[in-house]
Amino acid sequence: MKTLEKKELRKIYIDKREKLTEEERERLSKKIVEKLFSLDLKGFKNILLFCPFRGEPDITPLFSWVIREGKNLILPRVEGKNLKLIRVKDHESLSPGAFCILEPKEGEEVKPEEIELSLIPGLLFDKRGYRIGYGKGYYDRLLAKLGGLRVGVCYEFQVVEEVPRDSWDKPVDLVVTEEKIYEGGKEK
Ligand code: ADP
Ligand code: MG
Repeated sequence: MKTLEKKELRKIYIDKREKLTEEERERLSKKIVEKLFSLDLKGFKNILLFCPFRGEPDITPLFSWVIREGKNLILPRVEGKNLKLIRVKDHESLSPGAFCILEPKEGEEVKPEEIELSLIPGLLFDKRGYRIGYGKGYYDRLLAKLGGLRVGVCYEFQVVEEVPRDSWDKPVDLVVTEEKIYEGGKEK
């Protein structure tokens, strides 16, 4: 078990992320969104995104893009120990102005197997796509079933050579930061 090591790292990286100013977070988020658009996203229909939480990169410009392109915008909702995936139809109703909510309340459920592209938040990723989250294993349980291309999203300072790994940890396929795209341990 890498529980202690992971716990220490969580503390350090939550702290580092909280030190980002709002301006810095905005600046880096815009670059991350540009990098994400540099991937060829046209072919994906069922797209799982996330609402930025506690200083995570703001990827909400992708929400409008998904809707505009007639693709399916899917967001996770915590249900007990699992993340339920909800197709959000009326994004206007998500929240006044800000267009982001913590969790979608209404909408049809989509099976993880049906997702074609997912963006996965994390506190720390390594270059092979292994991830440390907040410590509840939600995304590990989801990744075990999630189809399609799975893309970790974080700031460059959250990428390290190797994160401590437990048997249940599941890697993502790509990690995208404001500077780089990592795939299989290397820069793409
Ligand atoms: P995180 O990925 O959020 O950083 P951990 O990898 O430490 O957190 O996992 C937290 C907990 O989630 C662990 O106690 C682990 O037993 C549980 N867990 C992870 N994946 C699964 C799974 N596929 N099935 C059941 N429990 C899981
Ligand atoms: Mg894990």
